[in-house]
Amino acid sequence: MRENRTEAAEGRGSSIEYADMLLLRFGEFTLKGKNRNRFEKTVLRHVKEMVKPYPKAVLSKEFGRIYVTLNGEPAGELAEALRNVFGIASISPVKVSRSEFDDILAASRRFLEIIAPPQGTTFKVNARRVWKDFPHGSIEMNKLISTPLLQGYPGLLVDVKSPELELKLEIREGSTYIFCDQIEGVGGFPLGTNGKAMLLLSGGIDSPVAAWSSMRRGLEVECVHFYSYPYTSELARQKVVDLARVLSRYAGVIKLHLVPFTEVQTSFTGIGQDNLIITLMRRAMLRITTRLAEREGALAVVTGDSLGQVASQTLSSMNVIGRATALPLLRPLVMMDKSEIVELSQRIGTYDLSILPYEDCCTLFVPKSPTTNPNLRIIEKIEATLPGYSARLDEAVTGTETITITPYGDEKPQDLVPAQSGLQEEWF
Ligand code: ATP
Ligand code: MG
Repeated sequence: MRENRTEAAEGRGSSIEYADMLLLRFGEFTLKGKNRNRFEKTVLRHVKEMVKPYPKAVLSKEFGRIYVTLNGEPAGELAEALRNVFGIASISPVKVSRSEFDDILAASRRFLEIIAPPQGTTFKVNARRVWKDFPHGSIEMNKLISTPLLQGYPGLLVDVKSPELELKLEIREGSTYIFCDQIEGVGGFPLGTNGKAMLLLSGGIDSPVAAWSSMRRGLEVECVHFYSYPYTSELARQKVVDLARVLSRYAGVIKLHLVPFTEVQTSFTGIGQDNLIITLMRRAMLRITTRLAEREGALAVVTGDSLGQVASQTLSSMNVIGRATALPLLRPLVMMDKSEIVELSQRIGTYDLSILPYEDCCTLFVPKSPTTNPNLRIIEKIEATLPGYSARLDEAVTGTETITITPYGDEKPQDLVPAQSGLQEEWF
């Protein structure tokens, strides 16, 4: 798990396994005034989904925060799942003590024992008295707790401005929360709060990363995959289903549209202009996806294109390909280096699947030298003169199979209500 960077640098222990509770903080969307309520509810729904496999854990919500009381469920495992919820900026493992001075001090001592800060670590206690009937004020508590702790740990150095270790105490009626570590969350916007887009999902490394990046910005995505049976195998199809399943861990549920592309693709092979095939194929994909987008109420198309990566991703190719749709074409990876994309795909868990060697329809009939500078007028002319071209695109749309994928492995028929919208809101 990725822990606080300072913690790693200091080489000290983590408080995670000592935690009774996880405190989740919301990300940047908290700035967005009137949408805030809706956004927080969406994060809650998503958190609830992630916590489902841990039945003893209990959720509660407060302004700008969610608390997950563990009741014996594994803190580390849960934190790892929850840090992937879009809209969560950070997570702190929290020790809960009774709001009695002696209990707070004992728990703080134990906290330090577990963290075992090395000699020379700079330190401060930061108490906040939320419950005004507690007999000691915040500033007084800083002293009352830090003095005995410093006596027990002579290696600690006080630094009230920017300490490496800040022990936070929130004194509330009934219980006091003690915490210091912060685990970085993925941040971004809660899922689906910025609309819906269709994502072109191939079996490669890039497009699953594009999907994750889009979801992180609050876009709901529906995946569209083109296959050319019998030229592409059942294994290639399964690979895409498996990739969508990894993505569903972040989305809760995800739709995958499988488009039969053989007829469209083979119609390009007889025209004697092999160097234009990729351009024609990509435009056909966009046209079909645009129709699916209209049907599904999506307002954009996302691809895994990255500038200059291959012939179809030169600026000139992007220009000619992009004109096949009137929808905004989003390319979240367009300015990223391949190494950065690979790193992200490893982090989100799609890399190992992506590198499996099954063929994609785009690797079939690939010309030796695809054009890097297609001419729009020539392409449009070819498309206009292809017999029955439009009907073939229609057939591909009608032949599209849609499956709904969840992290739990069951492919459900599309008419099932997605888990997210089916959830009740009265959990608290
Ligand atoms: P790689 O990691 O090998 O680059 P890729 O998936 O990015 O894999 P490209 O040939 O670079 O493959 O394709 C560019 C984009 O076109 C993809 O990111 C994807 O969005 C879309 N695409 C390509 N092939 C398909 C396909 N068979 N079905 C759906 N979308 C596809
Ligand atoms: Mg690519």
